[in-house]
Amino acid sequence: MSESNTKTNLLGMSPQTLGDFFESIGEKRFRSTQVLKWIHQFGVDNFDDMTNISKALRAKLTDVAEIREPEVVMQKTSKDGTRKWVIKTEGGSSVEMVLIPDGDRKTLCVSSQVGCSLDCSFCSTGKQGFNRNLTAAEIIGQVRIAIKSYGPFDPSGDRRVTNVVLMGMGEPLMNFNNVVEAVKLMMEDNAYGLSKRRVTLSTAGVVPALDKLGDETDVSLAVSLHAPNDELRDQLVPINRRYPINELIDACNRYLGKLNDKRVATVEYTLIAGINDQPEHARQLVKLLRRLPSKLNLIPFNPFPNSGYDRPSDEAIDAFKQIMLRGNILTTVRRTRGDDVDAACGQLVGQVQDRTRRSEKYIPVQQVSPDASTQTPLQ
Ligand code: SAH
Repeated sequence: MSESNTKTNLLGMSPQTLGDFFESIGEKRFRSTQVLKWIHQFGVDNFDDMTNISKALRAKLTDVAEIREPEVVMQKTSKDGTRKWVIKTEGGSSVEMVLIPDGDRKTLCVSSQVGCSLDCSFCSTGKQGFNRNLTAAEIIGQVRIAIKSYGPFDPSGDRRVTNVVLMGMGEPLMNFNNVVEAVKLMMEDNAYGLSKRRVTLSTAGVVPALDKLGDETDVSLAVSLHAPNDELRDQLVPINRRYPINELIDACNRYLGKLNDKRVATVEYTLIAGINDQPEHARQLVKLLRRLPSKLNLIPFNPFPNSGYDRPSDEAIDAFKQIMLRGNILTTVRRTRGDDVDAACGQLVGQVQDRTRRSEKYIPVQQVSPDASTQTPLQ
């Protein structure tokens, strides 16, 4: 066994957990504040560089702990500036994360699981099956890697990542504890210090976990609806058979009720030609969304090989949007970004060693495009 496997990785520990760790090695809890800053604000990997900590404690930490980030195996940049990283996770699989620059806003879309167990019919991640949950270090490590990619850490400089969305591979609420640890670090003043309005967790609707989430954190909420009635949603988002739309809407309202502010939920609705994009669907959706303080984000379906689905025409997308607007639902259409490097919504695949055997029924997407001009192999 390599030496590193016996050490405790501090990278994914929230302030509370890091405080517990210091106590467990006979040190004062307040050390966690110092160490958090070194790890997340200065990007330090070695305890020896933590100069406001005594030499003796530095040596002790070097003995028992480490700061270990996941390894980047590939980075690609889209023509529109969207960047995608492929990150190796322990066990030989890989996941993907995407940075989407848009004016002053730089949104990082992070993954929470290797693959996904929910099997939504239109999502390429789901078709690959599921391998395991990412650790908190592997989740927050994505944020750290994106920030570092701009060069040496510069805590006083412009924010290099302004928003984080948990909309990459995986269902965040199926990896509850690790996701909560990582989200706390994103919003922690001594770590990344992002406002709760700029960190968004997206879920397909794991209702009991959503109720628990509101007791642990106050991250912003997005919910993947994709259909205005149970009959259709049962087909597109199979977890609906366990937690149908009414229960999901109630849970979202309970979650919003726990936030002490006027935030609303973002409802995501992937528009698929001939499936859920008809005027009747839009009218049903208007009625449904009257029951949830929300804004609607329409996502034109992003195709992938053998999906069996198509993107609606621009006219159909606009017609759907107009019905929503006439129904007084605040509606935007998500611009497709990064699709030339397979970085668009639903195109993130990584490399999943499936444990569900689902992927045997599925012909995988070509992993790496042969376009060498945009591809930067890092090793
Ligand atoms: N499991 C979580 C997090 C993933 S978010 C969730 O479901 O919310 C990824 C978003 O992209 C979801 O809204 C998902 O439904 C959507 N999506 C998945 N596949 C897509 C595709 N092929 N085209 C467009 N959007 C897609």
